[in-house]
Amino acid sequence: MNVPLTSQTIEKIIRIMGGGDRVLTRKTDLLSYAYDASFGLFVPDVVCQVKSVEEVSEIVKLANEEKIPVTPRGHASGLSGGALPVEGGIVIDVSLWNDVLEIDKDDMIAIVSPGVITADIDRAAKKVGLMYPPDPSSSNVSTIAGNLAENSGGPRCLKYGVTKDYVLGLQVVTPEGHIIRTGGRTVKNVTGYDLTKLIVGSEGTLGVITEATLRLIPRPPATLSLMAAFGDIVQAGYAITDVLTSGILPAKIEFMDQSSIRAVENYHPMGLPLDAEAVLFIELDGHPLAIRDEAACVYQLLENAGALRVQKAETSEEEEEMWKARKLVSPAIAKHKPTKISEDATVPRSQIPAFLKRLRDIKHQFGIDLVVFGHAGDGNLHPNILCDQRDREEMEKVEQAVAAIFEAAISLGGTLSGEHGIGIMKKAFMPMEFDHFSLEMMKRIKEAWDPNGIMNPGKIFPKPGDRLVLRS
Ligand SMILES: Cc1cc2nc3c(=O)[nH]c(=O)nc-3n(C[C@H](O)[C@H](O)[C@H](O)COP(=O)(O)OP(=O)(O)OC[C@H]3O[C@@H](n4cnc5c(N)ncnc54)[C@H](O)[C@@H]3O)c2cc1C
Repeated sequence: MNVPLTSQTIEKIIRIMGGGDRVLTRKTDLLSYAYDASFGLFVPDVVCQVKSVEEVSEIVKLANEEKIPVTPRGHASGLSGGALPVEGGIVIDVSLWNDVLEIDKDDMIAIVSPGVITADIDRAAKKVGLMYPPDPSSSNVSTIAGNLAENSGGPRCLKYGVTKDYVLGLQVVTPEGHIIRTGGRTVKNVTGYDLTKLIVGSEGTLGVITEATLRLIPRPPATLSLMAAFGDIVQAGYAITDVLTSGILPAKIEFMDQSSIRAVENYHPMGLPLDAEAVLFIELDGHPLAIRDEAACVYQLLENAGALRVQKAETSEEEEEMWKARKLVSPAIAKHKPTKISEDATVPRSQIPAFLKRLRDIKHQFGIDLVVFGHAGDGNLHPNILCDQRDREEMEKVEQAVAAIFEAAISLGGTLSGEHGIGIMKKAFMPMEFDHFSLEMMKRIKEAWDPNGIMNPGKIFPKPGDRLVLRS
């Protein structure tokens, strides 16, 4: 592919879109669609800022006939390069299509258009005593379509599960331009193959999501948060296991290592313990009396596990500040060096201490600036490497370190990605996790859905010679 679109094709696109207002072809506009929150610069030929399923269907039909690559895109906060138009062609931008956000209190569902911001769904649910649990740290900027395509997680997913656990039904435009519906609005549904679950997490390679029906749950009446400081990073890992095996399931257990603590304190002083090698943030939710008792137990468990200090948030303001500290890690560490490589290799919960040990060894072995934080309660840590993309020698070390992180996670029974997806960033490593036939079965699904291979090409599946993409 990568053949520039003809002026006739552009004219057909403009006709479908009812004029040129939401069709971008100027070089400067196209450049702003050439990147996301990962790496690489891939310029599309045209961007369609779609606002209806009919527009998407007609554009995709045209693309399929003329074999033009199509890349769906939300707000481009993806960390694995999923929204990058690596083979050029058409970018379908759904971010302006945010007009539908209906909450049905009786059915406990939300119906949303693809460009709705994730946090807005939970805010709307809160007004009627309900909750939309998936809460990626990017929830104030990411779109629901991006979350669905990546099957996003977040801190609350420890207790409540990830995006796929809250999707009842979808409207999707297939790679041949057909409009289909999967699932519905019932909580139970075992009719036919579960196409909803197939689409969720398929990273925009099987179609364009144009509407979603999401499950909501009753909002817990209260929350209570604790912060524990540890003098040893691996001890913090054991403390997580102790809490999770105690019979209490917190809503969130988040982890920050010493480099993250220092980065946040330099960026926006919050009074985090600078003497600690690691801190854990724990949120309990439920009935106020129940969580008071649970907090006392967790407090004791953390002390027994060797915490230097355990602090309870006494007011909702203190609780907010605690969680703000965790949210500030990404922007704080981004200040350190020009390049931030954000990984999300994930291990079984019992292997968290072993994974933390391996990460500490990798940091020393390769002499890299490695910062570790993340959703530790579900084994989903975020080892972030801070470096300078322009420094070839440093990047070689970084590439080796990233491969070592993946090897460590897989050898501990884990996976390449807990929530960021494969995109272009990790496809070279897919054979590390899957045998030939497992990958082959995935490819056959892709070929059956998308016979012309137009939908988000160049993602997920490795090609011979593929390597880690840290430069375009
Ligand atoms: C600071 C920061 C923190 C983050 N924290 C988290 C976190 O806690 N948990 C987490 O899971 N992720 C996290 N992310 C990653 C990212 O925010 C998520 O992957 C998010 O779901 C991407 O949404 P988006 O709207 O930006 O999608 P984009 O980046 O635009 O696209 C992501 C993927 O979705 C596909 N896509 C977009 N729209 C559609 C559509 N309509 N139909 C089909 N496919 C579509 C794209 O092709 C692409 O493959 C974080 C990112 C940043 C920068």
